[in-house]
Amino acid sequence: MMPDDMSRPLIRERGDGGARHLEASVSDPSTPVIGILGTGDFSRSLARRLVASGYQVVVGSRTPKRFVALFPEDVEVTTQLEAANQADLVFVAVYPEHHSTLVELKPALVGKVLVDVSNSLCINQNGPSNAELLADYFPESSVVKGFNTISAWTLQMGPRDGGRQVFLCGNSQKAKNTVKSVCHRMGFIPVDMGLLSSSLEIENMPLHLFPSWRFPVFCTSFLFVFFYLYNFLRDVLQPFVTEGKKVFYKMPIEIVNVTLPSVALVMLALVYLPGLLAAFAQLRSGTKYNRFPGWLDRWLTTRKQLGLCSFMCAVLHTVYSLCLPLRKSARFKLIAAAYKQVKSGVEDPWVDEEVWRMELYLSVGIMALGLLSLLAVTSLPSVANTINWREFSFIQSTLGYCALFMATAHTLLYGWNRAFDLKQYRFNMPPTFVLVLVLPFAVLLGRLALCVPCVAGRLRKIRRGWERSRHVCFTLPAEDCRNGLENVSNVLLMFFTTR
Ligand code: NAP
Repeated sequence: MMPDDMSRPLIRERGDGGARHLEASVSDPSTPVIGILGTGDFSRSLARRLVASGYQVVVGSRTPKRFVALFPEDVEVTTQLEAANQADLVFVAVYPEHHSTLVELKPALVGKVLVDVSNSLCINQNGPSNAELLADYFPESSVVKGFNTISAWTLQMGPRDGGRQVFLCGNSQKAKNTVKSVCHRMGFIPVDMGLLSSSLEIENMPLHLFPSWRFPVFCTSFLFVFFYLYNFLRDVLQPFVTEGKKVFYKMPIEIVNVTLPSVALVMLALVYLPGLLAAFAQLRSGTKYNRFPGWLDRWLTTRKQLGLCSFMCAVLHTVYSLCLPLRKSARFKLIAAAYKQVKSGVEDPWVDEEVWRMELYLSVGIMALGLLSLLAVTSLPSVANTINWREFSFIQSTLGYCALFMATAHTLLYGWNRAFDLKQYRFNMPPTFVLVLVLPFAVLLGRLALCVPCVAGRLRKIRRGWERSRHVCFTLPAEDCRNGLENVSNVLLMFFTTR
């Protein structure tokens, strides 16, 4: 590139002067002329990106003179018919309810590729899709669905700052290939979703609101509310009702801080539980070819989200715990305790058992958080893609159970011997940690049961295709010949994620 070229802006605004079309497009006759119908937000961003990628762009408007100033110099803004005549490939950037107003362009669009970028207002389960309706209006054109998942903002900023994948579908492979090359040239990655019948799925994509997070978020919220109320009744209301003690100041921090680890541990157990249930279901039916019930299937697919919710609660618990000494109430309590001690004449407040309990409690808690962080990081697709399946399942399975074990030990050390102290059963309610420990204990015991050699052997055989009812007899290879894929502990007991 010559020094003069470097100082020239890539996209000339209208009025900058200079040639009307990019030299790149004019000099390369194989580059299609791209038309855009509509002059709205999407059209403007798309036109800029196309011009920056070296395409000749012609925009069709009902009132071209009105919007011409909004487009860069290199873009030709003309009537819809003129744009349809000039272009080889046309982006339809108008709302689907206005597609019918374009039918008069039908003769001009015969044999051309039409890209439908439209989105619907709400999820359409039954069809037909906007793209299929557009194809009905223009039977002699090749309709390709795509770019609807890319926002005008992403187009404007370029693929580096936004989503890079463009989902495409259409019945003509040739038309799809043309659109794919446009995608590549703009810096996006086209993902072929098959025939135009997939367009409904593509149109619904941007309308979903975290579908895989609903159950985990519901569980987290439900458990949080449940444990918060439980702790509130025991630690705030009970002292107020029985002794008239006002400890409502505990509500924003102390109660939240006992609630969060409870939620985190139960959620972590919920990550492992469906894998265990699936394993026991297979052992019971003696085959891996029976389908799991729908609820178990769905539960298995949300383990990653459940694990991440658990991780979030654990991190929040850590931050809250670190902030505990910063509170005024903590300082007042410390001063009051010191004063009481001086008054009572006790010289050395050191209690060996308490010291050891606290040291172990903190150490095990930190370990659990470290392991949980590792599981959370490796559940990110970009990290998971850098490790092989065996490494991935080792982290998610073996280290995942270690995290559950550590978190359970952390809670046990917190409770210590208070489970056996009747005074702790305020309002006849057991201490929170007793409730919390039920599920993790059940999961850990279930996992231990699966480690019993005869059970593990049977499960391994079932996972290799053996069926009790058919009595197919075969011998498994020796232990060290197996790779990670056949490892019993790695398949359904893989906890934190689905790859
Ligand atoms: P917009 O700003 O409202 O522009 C729509 C354009 O449609 C108008 O500027 C108008 O241009 C043209 N049009 C043609 N016939 C029309 C008619 N009969 N009535 C009204 N307008 C008519 O909308 P947009 O945000 O650019 O969205 C355009 C399409 O892109 C939609 O289907 C949308 O779902 C899709 N999309 C948008 C985004 C985004 O981020 N905005 C992202 C993905 C997909 P003229 O007046 O010049 O003819």
